Amino acid sequence: MFENLQDKLDRAFKVLKGQGSITEINVAETMKEIRKALLDADVNYKTAKSFTDEVKEKALGANVLTAVSPGQLLTKIMNDELAALMGGEVTELDLKTNPTIILIAGLNGAGKTTFTGKLANFLKNKGKKPLLVAGDVYRPAAVDQLQILGEQIGVPVYANTASKDPVGIALEGIAEGKKQQNNVIIIDTAGRLAIDEQMMDEIAAVKESTKPHEILFVVDAMTGQDAVNTAKAFNDRLDFTGVVLTKLDGDTRGGAALSIKSVVNKPIKFIGTGEKMEALDVFYPERMASRILG
Ligand code: GDP
Repeated sequence: MFENLQDKLDRAFKVLKGQGSITEINVAETMKEIRKALLDADVNYKTAKSFTDEVKEKALGANVLTAVSPGQLLTKIMNDELAALMGGEVTELDLKTNPTIILIAGLNGAGKTTFTGKLANFLKNKGKKPLLVAGDVYRPAAVDQLQILGEQIGVPVYANTASKDPVGIALEGIAEGKKQQNNVIIIDTAGRLAIDEQMMDEIAAVKESTKPHEILFVVDAMTGQDAVNTAKAFNDRLDFTGVVLTKLDGDTRGGAALSIKSVVNKPIKFIGTGEKMEALDVFYPERMASRILG
């Protein structure tokens, strides 16, 4: 998909190559090509349209009587604009409170449990003392999975498999974390295969009772337009504080990163780049922009 987008952009830029100035006509033509390429890469229409409108305005307003070619200028404008669309700057976690409570939400298979482990590992390496709370009351395998990850990274896990009450488990976990002087408590929650009212009610109840400082929504970047719809549904209900895009190591579409930020207006904070505990990166809008544009 990236290749596809890049090929098309390359072709679009060829139109401009060798031309001494950017005119209304050749910019409009190029924007059409770019919009098509973005749509093909699964960026939603509204995002693609506002992006190209913005780039067009900047391109026409820019002083092109400089040493750079129009193609280069447009590439720079697009890079800056794409990065701005994805938040502009790195957005860090709010870790001021002790203990910081972080709630993890998302659909089954998104990579929630894996990310929960990765985040604990990331924070531990930064000198924090995290505790993981296994809040998936529906899948015993998820509790086992978290316990295995915890052991692997040397981070304790609070679980209570006798309980089916996500709020109770979360509160017990927090109490345990306070007792053990953990300064970050990360609560994994139960997902579902698709958006589900009961799931939303449960996570909303956990949010209500634990008052988390961060609610991170985890989503599989490979699900394209669905990722955007899922993000919207979760944000409408939970008003989350950040997005984690997983599986960006695969044959992933760039569209999700671009659209999610503009649709829910929440920062992407991390990206998952593999199954291993180390395969986690802070989200850099600039890098992602370059990656999308090639
Ligand atoms: P959950 O149901 O949301 O808790 O999802 P899991 O954490 O169990 O992840 C589902 C699958 O995706 C597992 O096989 C993970 O190893 C895999 N996975 C999670 N994150 C990534 C990632 O960033 N890249 C890749 N390639 N696989 C991932």
